Order: sequence, then structure tokens, then C-alpha cells
Amino acid sequence: MTTTFRPTLLDRRDRPLRDLRISVTDRCNLRCRYCMPREHFGPDHRYLHSDALLSFDEIARLARVFASLGVRKIRLTGGEPLLRRGIADLVAMLAAIPGLDLAMTTNGLLLPTLAQRLAQAGLRRVTVSLDALDDAVFRAVTDTPVPVRRVLEGIDAAARAGLTPVKVNMVVKRGVNDGCVLPMAERFRGSGHILRFIEYMDVGATNEWRLGEVLPATEVLRMIGDRHALEPLPAGHPGEVATRYRYRDGAGEIGVIGSVTRPFCGDCTRARLSADGMVHTCLFSSRGTDLRALLRAGAGDEELRTVVGALWGAREDGYSELRGGRRTRSREDRVEMSYIGG
Ligand code: SAM
Ligand code: SF4
Ligand code: SF4
Repeated sequence: MTTTFRPTLLDRRDRPLRDLRISVTDRCNLRCRYCMPREHFGPDHRYLHSDALLSFDEIARLARVFASLGVRKIRLTGGEPLLRRGIADLVAMLAAIPGLDLAMTTNGLLLPTLAQRLAQAGLRRVTVSLDALDDAVFRAVTDTPVPVRRVLEGIDAAARAGLTPVKVNMVVKRGVNDGCVLPMAERFRGSGHILRFIEYMDVGATNEWRLGEVLPATEVLRMIGDRHALEPLPAGHPGEVATRYRYRDGAGEIGVIGSVTRPFCGDCTRARLSADGMVHTCLFSSRGTDLRALLRAGAGDEELRTVVGALWGAREDGYSELRGGRRTRSREDRVEMSYIGG
């Protein structure tokens, strides 16, 4: 692909396209209640058939198209991205695209086996999701009898492989794991890992989200700040979703992601590509644009660029700013996080 000068692609609210999240599978080895509740994702659930998944060549080709339109960062996600067979080969193909920052979000269970291979293939960093340190609470959240120790081993493996700083994401649900906020803060203080607290979101149509179950980021900060003095840090980069803080005593950094109480749609520069090649411009969207059909019908790069450019140019998304208002869509329509890529 030749490099030609292109003006920055902006949406209708002047937001550039900078990030692409690529879901590589809609399958997972956990069943977090807030993401893939077992009653909806049980044995009868119809996952994407292997023919429906984009091949690694197709993913890499789309990644190059997105990079040529301004994307600077790609995050591999899912479902559980480490379940996709040969994932390190895909990492190597994406790492070969110049100027891209490559990261992954994972539940960490397969990192002890794969971290070293992923790092060698060119992965820079990982974010590991972990919502509790207590096995019983972890089980209540993930609906799977996996001990917390396995995720901690995954985090250690990532750090040993140099996928640093490791970010640890904790979704906080009031009445479920809010008692784990302080133990998690203590566990990761001084570890070199960055713990980030995420407000529980009404993504998808199956998790029966209620506003009362959201623990606001301000409450998390108060809980931790009462014990250890915190001070704000500037954003690491434009469009960063986490508000950053450091412990005054030098024990490291934490972040809060106030997706519900402090929406950041105005700075949202992210597109999402599902494992079957549908591109979505908002986590709360109901319909994607089918890039796989175009690819498999023989579309050239310029045609793909035109389609994605037009899609981004028409984008007005800002669901979290409107949440609960009359202009928001009904939940039944929404795609699931495990499909669209968290
Ligand atoms: N399986 C991987 C993992 O759990 O890290 C990657 C995919 S998962 C969908 C990506 C992120 O979305 C995870 O950090 C998860 O905790 C978060 N997530 C899923 N459902 C959520 C919800 N309803 N509200 C907030 N975050 C959610
Ligand atoms: Fe799986 Fe990640 Fe969803 Fe949990 S949050 S069910 S680990 S995809
Ligand atoms: Fe971006 Fe949509 Fe989330 Fe707003 S609601 S931050 S537009 S993904």
C-alpha cells in the first residue's frame, strides 16, 4: 500500500479516528455475569462459525486500511482473544504495520502459556481483567470455578514477558464486588501494575443492568483516598478514557473510568471490528457495516477506505451522554460486548 498524504478523517463532532478494537472471537472461557450471563450464553448459544470469522490475512488487511485512515492504536479483544488459535501469528502480522501501538485485553487465564510468545511476536502491552481477589466473589462474578490465583499467574507472566506496564481492569458492581475495591488497591499498590476501576455499563441486551448497581468512580476514589493520599495526573494521551491518579507516597498509579457517571463521548476516537468483520462506531450500536462482505466480494483497498471514511464521516455517536434519555435506542437491539469487542 502506498503512503499518500490524507487530511485527518473527522466525524460530525470533529473526532478523529485513532483507535481500533478488533474482536478475534466471540467465545470465552469465563461467563462474567455482566458480559456473558450463562442463561444466554449456555450450550445452546450459537457462536460464530469458523467460516464466518475474518481470517488473519483479512484482519491484517483491514488493519492496514484503518491505519491509512488515521488509526494509531489497535487493541485485540473478544470474547477471550487468547482462545483464537494462532493468535501470536496475528500479533506478528499486525506488529509489522508501521506506526501502530498494539495492545490486548484478556482475562489472563492463558497468559502463562502465551505471554512470552505474544511479546516475541510484537505485542507491547496487555490489560488483564480481574474483578476480585477473593475466590468466592470471583466465582460469583465469572460464574466459573476458576481460582483467582490463575489470573494472578497470568499477570505475573505478562510482566515477566515485558508486556508492561500491565493494566488491571476491575469492573465494580455495587453489592457484588464493591467490597474488593480496597483489597485490590492494596494488592496492586507498589506492584508497578496500573489498576483501573470501571463503572458497570448497560452494554448489550442480556446483563439486566440497573443504575443502582453502578458504583460511581467518585465513590471508588473516596474509598481509596480515605486510606492513601491521591493526586490527579494529566491524561497520558488525547482521548484517554481513564482519569489517572497517583499515590502521593510514590506507590504507583490508579485510574477510574466513569463511563456512566462521567461520559467521555466527546473524546471518543474508537471504532470496533467484530470477529465476523462488522465495523461499529459505538459500543452501544445495534448495526454494523459489513466489511467482510466487501472483502470477500473482491473490494480493493481504496474502496474499503472510501466505505470506512464515509462511515466515520457520518458518525454522530454519543450514547453515554444520552443514556436513559428519550433519544436512546431500546436495549433489545444492542449487540453484545463479547461480540463487538470490549
Ligand atoms: N475477555 C477479555 C477480558 O475480559 O478482558 C476481553 C473482552 S471483555 C468484553 C473486555 C472488557 O470489557 C473487560 O475488561 C470486561 O471487564 C469489560 N466489560 C464487559 N462487560 C462490561 C460491562 N457490562 N460493563 C463494564 N465493563 C464490561
Ligand atoms: Fe469473557 Fe471477558 Fe466477557 Fe468476562 S468480560 S465473559 S472474560 S469476554
Ligand atoms: Fe464512544 Fe459510544 Fe462509548 Fe460514547 S458511548 S464513549 S461514543 S463508544
